[in-house]
Amino acid sequence: MLEIDSSKGEGGGQVVRSSVALSAITGIETHLTRIRENRPTNGLSKQHCVAVNAVADMTGSEVIGNHAGSRELLFRPGNRQTSQIELDIGTAGSVSLVLQAIMLAGRNHREKLRIDVRGGTNVMWAPPVDSYQQILFPLMERMGIKARLEIKDRGFYPEGGGRVMAELDPIGDISPLVIGDLGELRGIEGICYIQHLKDRIKDDMISACVEMLDLDCPVDINIQRMSGNSKGAGLSLVAVYENGRLGSNVLTTKGHPAKQAGEDVAKDLMKEMFSGATMDVYTADQLLPYMAMANGPSEFTVSRISKHLLSQMDTLETFLDVRFGVERKGPVYNLSVTPGGGK
Ligand code: ATP
Repeated sequence: MLEIDSSKGEGGGQVVRSSVALSAITGIETHLTRIRENRPTNGLSKQHCVAVNAVADMTGSEVIGNHAGSRELLFRPGNRQTSQIELDIGTAGSVSLVLQAIMLAGRNHREKLRIDVRGGTNVMWAPPVDSYQQILFPLMERMGIKARLEIKDRGFYPEGGGRVMAELDPIGDISPLVIGDLGELRGIEGICYIQHLKDRIKDDMISACVEMLDLDCPVDINIQRMSGNSKGAGLSLVAVYENGRLGSNVLTTKGHPAKQAGEDVAKDLMKEMFSGATMDVYTADQLLPYMAMANGPSEFTVSRISKHLLSQMDTLETFLDVRFGVERKGPVYNLSVTPGGGK
């Protein structure tokens, strides 16, 4: 049985999601302790419990200690393969983060996985579902992994109530991903979503963003007005290059007015674009598990090494035979992932 101290590194929900998914696919029984010990609210939150339950259900695994506030979890992997999953997080907990665990746990599924999940689609400190469509899924597709999603309703804090239908085709051999150079910039694409807020908010956000994006390339921002239960607005951007994608995203809130939000999302994107990195920091920690299971070495650069990235490497090395290399390369960090090079 593997013992995992979940408070190490970033010490958040990610180590829980990655560990249970990896336990399910490797068949290694896992005991997690000190869950979210350094977070203001310790232990599992509703969103984490839903993810753990989903992974247990879809793989016929047994789980002990999976309740809100729990600081300890025992996961005994099973060998069922459920391919139809319906979930309601019940709060504005992130749909994307629950999907993150489910998709990884679906690595060995032999049938297409269909997931219908309700919760928050665009919430703070989590990937907007849009970034999966704009960045994560297109990069996964280059590795031979085909996933897609449809946003039925948007869900914002505090009510949530968003709904996403996602699909993952059976994953066969995973190809490595090497992005040494992004190549030519093709353009900037964006999605500005708004639900039950005045049009002025989206107009201010888009014009501030476009004005700030001081780039010689086409900028195409689509507007999505939706009518779910909650209210909110935000902007998710992707810079599309010949060989890769970089993203940034923002939510506008009372403390983060639309004009400021528009400027910030543009600045964040340009910072990534001018950094010389070939992958944005958030996408990197989410793609890492697939690279660790690829049939060859992957390589890319990031502008900084986040704690999420370090923790993800640590968790992956615990479960899989993989070696990571991090090397400073001028203003960026070169990250190499060598499956089979670990033990
Ligand atoms: P906790 O509540 O303990 O922070 P959590 O389950 O919400 O736990 P983390 O462990 O912090 O989550 O992991 C958050 C994940 O979301 C990471 O994979 C991180 O890269 C990603 N993420 C966070 N913010 C963004 C963002 N703005 N855009 C894209 N991805 C993001």
